[in-house]
Amino acid sequence: MLLNPKLLDVDLAIEKLGALARPVAECEDVPLAEAVGRVLAEDVVVPIDLPPFDASAMDGYALNVAGLEREGAKRLRVVGRSAAGMPANTSVGQGEAVRIFTGAVLPVGADAVLLQEDAQRQGAWVETTAPIEPGQNVRKRGHDVAAGAVLCSAGHKLGVYDLAWMAACGIAELRARRRIRVAVVSTGDELALPGQPLKPGQIYESNRFALDCLLRQRGAVVADYGCVADDLDAIRDALRKAAAEADVVVASGGVSVGDADFVKSAVEDVGSIEFWRVALKPGKPLAVGRIGGALFFGLPGNPVSTIITYLLFVSPAIDLLEGAKAKPPLTLPAVLGDSVRHSKGRREYMRGTMRERDGALVVRITGDQGSNRLATFANANCLVVIERDAGSLQPGDAVRVIPLPSVPAHPMQVPEQVPE
Ligand code: AMP
Ligand code: MG
Repeated sequence: MLLNPKLLDVDLAIEKLGALARPVAECEDVPLAEAVGRVLAEDVVVPIDLPPFDASAMDGYALNVAGLEREGAKRLRVVGRSAAGMPANTSVGQGEAVRIFTGAVLPVGADAVLLQEDAQRQGAWVETTAPIEPGQNVRKRGHDVAAGAVLCSAGHKLGVYDLAWMAACGIAELRARRRIRVAVVSTGDELALPGQPLKPGQIYESNRFALDCLLRQRGAVVADYGCVADDLDAIRDALRKAAAEADVVVASGGVSVGDADFVKSAVEDVGSIEFWRVALKPGKPLAVGRIGGALFFGLPGNPVSTIITYLLFVSPAIDLLEGAKAKPPLTLPAVLGDSVRHSKGRREYMRGTMRERDGALVVRITGDQGSNRLATFANANCLVVIERDAGSLQPGDAVRVIPLPSVPAHPMQVPEQVPE
């Protein structure tokens, strides 16, 4: 079958988007506790050695191994005590030891810490009951990271673990690019708000909710432009207003080729469409453009298409606006546990449940993959990528999956109900 030449290849579309999404210039100082997900505007240089001093890694006795060997003695006199935050006021000479605890300063003269379990204490004396090497149980000053090193470089998106490391280095504030303002608008005459009674022909709208959550989770500033009727003037007005106040305008619905699909025309009136229609399933009608200084995304209205196009296009574009480096999603090799019907022409992102079996990831498809079916996300922990030119696939065939954790900053867990 011939590939539809009107559909833009997904990778090409992502490349085009990369050229459209230029980083914002403005930066701000952000307290460490508010910096998760922010993108560094400048390199973070470590101000101190970490650890700041030679420290004990264990509870035991600080001693000098060379001295111990020279003396041939296993018996040492305990001459002081070094606890975390309370350094000893003595040094360690030959034939001497200092009682020491985890995290305490290694006294001058000592080069190793004898484990408490390898020591026999008798009053003012301690005897070694196991061999010991120089450096044993000692955390050398600067061995985690040395003063002057670049801990994270400009363009790095900060995670909890980066920030914990920075806190350990005494850093209280960071210079980050400002947050990206995203305006979200839904279109459709049929949409009702959750909590309201449904009138005939109405459905509850979920896209604004999904987009709002996803955008907030990634640290964007969200402006809600509500739900607009399928009316060219109304859509044009809403988009113009949204673009005046936001860096990114995300609309859902009305971007296909139906009689009530006005979004593309509205954008052409107030801005420009850069590309439309991608060789993607779900999400083919995706439209990307500009309205004034804002980047515009017209996401297809089916709820699954909205989420998939958000993940593949909107979120990575926001990364770029924030000044982050472009990074493709992590994909992992997996083995299909189901057969998959796929006709050539579009790259498909199915929802799947992966788990490990006999050393390989086996992935099951979460039922009928209709783009209206949010049920396909239930228990899904990955997207299953079916390439554009792939035909139907059989159980045992190789695919690639993109992990899809639903809760941030949490190790991915084995899903509760895994189909067998
Ligand atoms: P459209 O892209 O406008 O042609 O819409 C495609 C399908 O998605 C239709 O069945 C719409 O009713 C549905 N839809 C559009 N917008 C939303 C929304 N915000 N929430 C849930 N479903 C929607
Ligand atoms: Mg519609």
